[in-house]
Amino acid sequence: MIVMKFGGTSIEDIPSVERVVEIINSRLEQRPVVINSAMGKTTRKLLEIARLSAEGMDEKALSRLDEIRGYHFDMARGLTPDFEDSDVRTTLEGYFEELQRLMGGLSVLRELTPRSQDRILSYGELVATTIIASALQSRGINTRWLDARDFIITDERFTRARPLDEFTFPGIQEKVRPLVESGHVPVIQGFIGSARSGATTTLGFEGSDLTAALAGAALDASVIQIWKDVNGIMTADPRIFSGALTIKNISFEEASELTFFGAKVLHPGTIEPARRKNISVGIYNSRRPDAGGTTITARAKRGTELIKSIAYNMSVCIVSITPDSHVNPDGFLRSIFDILDRERITPCIVTTAGTGIAMALGASEDLERAIDELKCLGTVNITGEKATISLVGENIRTTRDFAPVLFRNLEDVNIYMIAQGASPISLTFVVDESDIPSVIARLHEAFFKDPDPDIFD
Ligand code: ASP
Ligand code: MG
Repeated sequence: MIVMKFGGTSIEDIPSVERVVEIINSRLEQRPVVINSAMGKTTRKLLEIARLSAEGMDEKALSRLDEIRGYHFDMARGLTPDFEDSDVRTTLEGYFEELQRLMGGLSVLRELTPRSQDRILSYGELVATTIIASALQSRGINTRWLDARDFIITDERFTRARPLDEFTFPGIQEKVRPLVESGHVPVIQGFIGSARSGATTTLGFEGSDLTAALAGAALDASVIQIWKDVNGIMTADPRIFSGALTIKNISFEEASELTFFGAKVLHPGTIEPARRKNISVGIYNSRRPDAGGTTITARAKRGTELIKSIAYNMSVCIVSITPDSHVNPDGFLRSIFDILDRERITPCIVTTAGTGIAMALGASEDLERAIDELKCLGTVNITGEKATISLVGENIRTTRDFAPVLFRNLEDVNIYMIAQGASPISLTFVVDESDIPSVIARLHEAFFKDPDPDIFD
């Protein structure tokens, strides 16, 4: 059994869906379970129409909804024979009517709650899976559409809900496994789930990867395949550094550090379920299905490379706090972490000194709330427009050559914070946002001068 996840740009138009159908069709003996996220930029567009409706801009919202409807109907029409008389058409019409009614509700209430936002975004995945299931069926594949909300059970934290393993794992085993065993290809929405109350939830942006990992872990799949439109995990973000290389093999630990420190290629939650069950995760390019991609495994090949990859996070701020004299020094750190915990904020770097504490954190609304609370503990200083750069690789653990290469190449760069040690395989530092492209290019040149062809492509 394998899990195959396709989303976004890998299913953005008729030719890309046809390509995906062929990829699935050629792997039927491996008994695939298919997970889809929304097509193209649908999630973002749905979010926009939800906001417009809540602002009372009904006409604009309706014309955007028409665009989304037209886009999906064109795809469905191109991928389903006899579309006009098909059940697919009736199902899609039903979804778009529901959406329109929900938008009407928002414009009356003039309010977009996280709960209604999740409900609206879920239609991106619902319509995508309806169309893909129909395309697979038309290709003669014995397909079964499933509603993820019947078994991906989450907490009630709308817009970034956490799946509850104790319900989700047995649910997947009960609802999905028998279908695969009887020769069907299940098609399931990524990203969406249901709270125990029945309300629709979402797992946070890019959450479909997490759905794929959960399905793989629950079903003891032989591999969890994430199909994208890039070649895999790369030595740097190819959008800001064109010389980036594909990494053929990387460990769970390396991948997990990279996603934590900003690599966008995978949702950060994807690795944990896979690691727990020791199931390898493959990242492939749906436009080049025969290229090798990246395989993430418990132990990865190691060569002479000093690092495997460079990740970065934009929109970071440095928050430093000097305690007020009335604050009990013994409880100071605990009080800070209690506040961050409540807002579910994880700093990328924390350092302490005699005078207080400094943290590098991603800017967000949650952070603004947290800062209001932190101000009760002392003087808070915030410096924005910073970014983190993280160097990741198993060899950092053992080499002595790493630090000299790094520091030699950081001459003339303003470094605001630096940290190593929480993980023995990564080092992170903070620079000005505007320095990101040049510093990454410089470090890439230094660290990947002579890439090992067994590891990099
Ligand atoms: N469609 C959702 C998003 O755009 C989930 C996903 O793509 O994984 O984030
Ligand atoms: Mg996506």
